[in-house]
Amino acid sequence: AEVIKDAICSFCGTLCDDITVTVENNKITNAERACILGQNKMVGMFEHGRIESPMIRKDGELVEVSYDEAIEKAAETLVNSNRTLSYGWASTSCEAIREGIQLAEETRSVIDSTANVCHGPSALAIQEKGLPAATVGQMKNRADVIVFWGCNPVHAHPRHMGRYSSYAKGFFTPKGRKNRKIVTVDVRNTDTAKLSDKLVQVEQGKDLLLLTAIRSAINENEDVIPDSVAGVSKDDILEVADTLKNANYSCIFFGMGTTQSRSKYKNGDAVSSLVADINQHSKCVMLSMRGHYNVAGFGQTALWEVGFPMAIDFSHGYAYYNPGETGANDLLYREEADAALIAAADPGSHFPQKSVRQLANIPLIQIDPFENPTTHIADVVIPSAVVGIEAEGTAYRMDNIPLRMKKLVDTEFNSDEQIVRDLIQKVRELKQR
Ligand code: SF4
Repeated sequence: AEVIKDAICSFCGTLCDDITVTVENNKITNAERACILGQNKMVGMFEHGRIESPMIRKDGELVEVSYDEAIEKAAETLVNSNRTLSYGWASTSCEAIREGIQLAEETRSVIDSTANVCHGPSALAIQEKGLPAATVGQMKNRADVIVFWGCNPVHAHPRHMGRYSSYAKGFFTPKGRKNRKIVTVDVRNTDTAKLSDKLVQVEQGKDLLLLTAIRSAINENEDVIPDSVAGVSKDDILEVADTLKNANYSCIFFGMGTTQSRSKYKNGDAVSSLVADINQHSKCVMLSMRGHYNVAGFGQTALWEVGFPMAIDFSHGYAYYNPGETGANDLLYREEADAALIAAADPGSHFPQKSVRQLANIPLIQIDPFENPTTHIADVVIPSAVVGIEAEGTAYRMDNIPLRMKKLVDTEFNSDEQIVRDLIQKVRELKQR
């Protein structure tokens, strides 16, 4: 058996880089230190069936074809459509994302990532108010107050609390949890809340009100705060404000409970403003809890390629960005997309019914290692290597630090990067005919 140290778990945005992997007969049989989610990905993937061959839908059935035939059919679809939606790109490498953006530009497509339905509103908030951030290393070493707002790392990022936040022992926090006060703001008593010192139970959809009230308390305008705001008593609001003001170093981790509830990006905007207010008194930083392991990488790659983090429309021949108009669901709801390329994502499971219906009505190309509900509405299916396990590449952790993922086992499948390169090549050929 081969033992590979310091492997990266390519599942969630925590992107743990301390995994010791055992490989036997080209299969991972153990992933030491990975949480249950990481185990399921790294070891469990060898127990799942794969999409074994490229496929094209003929007479209503997906039939196996050669790789070249699938690439040709996919490229034809892209060249013959007027408004292709390219969507996904969060569970793949930055190198593949870069090629995906190139392909979108050459085919005048709209390219969007899964961020649009999770932390996209945070991107808009950051554009308005900025991102007072830090690396998770700084948080681990310094934070004596931690707020989890609308996120549940116990289930979504199981090693986050041990490696970077609640329990992590750092230079100024040698006793880990004992050196920290933890506050959870959520609509329910989550398992993360149960491991906190205080649960602030906010009423559904009223985060913006609560954030504004805490800001008033921080800014010493407590007279304007009523006895209760968003279901939280004034005493609790003053206590949270006091804790944040008197911290040596506080960190607010916020999740989809903030970005996808009522007020959406205005919540993220208010978190930024709250952090700015706290910084008048002490040191505070914020970080969004990114879900897919490289969803941060799409934002980073797109920003340095074209200047926008998601929902990028190349139909005019240059990059145009207007979430609400150029997002994946915006196009699908308006029945505007006339073809789709889905890479490393499964909108068939996660998109609203109306969007899925529209996807089923248009030519759909899927690039993915595994069969999922999107496969059943796809017209061209191209199987790919599992990035981070069967292909190397770069991914950005939730604190926007790039890490290099190793190739851990061999595979017969092409990487996403190679597949998209082949598509670009074929598109260029077809355009010259
Ligand atoms: Fe993998 Fe996330 Fe678990 Fe770390 S916390 S081992 S990155 S699933």
